[in-house]
Amino acid sequence: MTRKFDAAPTLLSGSGGLSILGSTLTTTPLNRGRLISLLALTLGAPLAAQRPTSPGQVRPRPAEGREPEFPPPSITQYKPRSTLVAPVHMVLRAKFPAIDFHGHPPFLASQEVINQVVSYMDSLNLRVMVSANNSSGERLKQQLAAIAASKYKDRFVILTGLNLRDVGPGSGQRIAAQLEADIAAGAAGVGEIGKEFGLFAHKADGSRLKLDDPELDAVWETAARLKIPVFIHVGDPAEFFEPIDFHNERWLELALYPSRRYQDRSKYPSFEELMAERNRLLARHPSVHWVLAHLGWHANDLARLGRMFDSLPNLSSEVGAILYDLGRQPRAAREFMIKYQDRLLFGKDSFQPDEYPYYWRVFETFDEYFDYYRDYHAFWKLYGLGLPDSVLKRLYYGNALKLTAAISRSGFPK
Ligand SMILES: [Zn+2]
Repeated sequence: MTRKFDAAPTLLSGSGGLSILGSTLTTTPLNRGRLISLLALTLGAPLAAQRPTSPGQVRPRPAEGREPEFPPPSITQYKPRSTLVAPVHMVLRAKFPAIDFHGHPPFLASQEVINQVVSYMDSLNLRVMVSANNSSGERLKQQLAAIAASKYKDRFVILTGLNLRDVGPGSGQRIAAQLEADIAAGAAGVGEIGKEFGLFAHKADGSRLKLDDPELDAVWETAARLKIPVFIHVGDPAEFFEPIDFHNERWLELALYPSRRYQDRSKYPSFEELMAERNRLLARHPSVHWVLAHLGWHANDLARLGRMFDSLPNLSSEVGAILYDLGRQPRAAREFMIKYQDRLLFGKDSFQPDEYPYYWRVFETFDEYFDYYRDYHAFWKLYGLGLPDSVLKRLYYGNALKLTAAISRSGFPK
């Protein structure tokens, strides 16, 4: 069947009619779908005027403006079950022994705790846990002693913290001296420098401590000389700084967690201000082995992180708590992780043993459209990246070993 459409001043739909501005189109049902897609692309502007609808919707639908006949569920109630039938490959243990570079295990000062954590690690094929809990001074020594006295000397390293409170003249030298002492005592690097630095920490004079404050140059110079990784978490997802409206991707999380709201510009810098400060810090100290937490909060814009990697040869980043962003763009994320395979470290952030397998599944399989473990991070599903073994090995342990002299090589493939 062939249909003929009349010219009309506006685009119309319904009752089979389809007209375009000032032209007559003849089309068959076969190519009509293609034509509609083409129209949607070329006629975006005239369409926009009659499009009070959802993003992606081409034109008002018959039910436009109609209220649902049943009370709509709330965002927390609507949990549709997927009817998709697709292969499922649960991965309970990592394919290769892994190092959790963004580890937050409990305080490791007793054999009981150490044994318990190792039993979880063994079940996941986590070979080494990097404790990124800012343990300095006595707290550091206590844990190092307990680990040394345990059966699991090779399974943990501890990063030290920096005391960035009330920074003023002379603070840089003081912090650098403490860092040097902690490394001499056996700390493997610095971290995690938390988001407090940049968002909450104030100087002795009451002003916000900026990430690139020159007082701290002595600290970064010391870290560069000691050739230790400096693991730093700056800011939070960009949406946490944006208005909390129904267009905000993280609306639910912001509604649930008051401490993640940074809308008040009298208290907090904007996301971009923070990123600019961070980038000036990294550029001023390019010989420091920086490790950005959470892919620098650019997992939703991997090209941006790629440009940073391109300009800073000593920059690495870890993948904790941004799985929802990798898993929603599996092809681009796969390409990115292959291209920058020398710069990426596995990290999980919070120590919840039953959540690690989601990471293994995203990295190792090509599974499609599966659930994530936190609905307030993402209301969408995840897809597997199916990373090649050579990339998995670097991600899981190779890059962390290269970066961190204190991690024992034993237990890893050659
Ligand atoms: Zn952390």
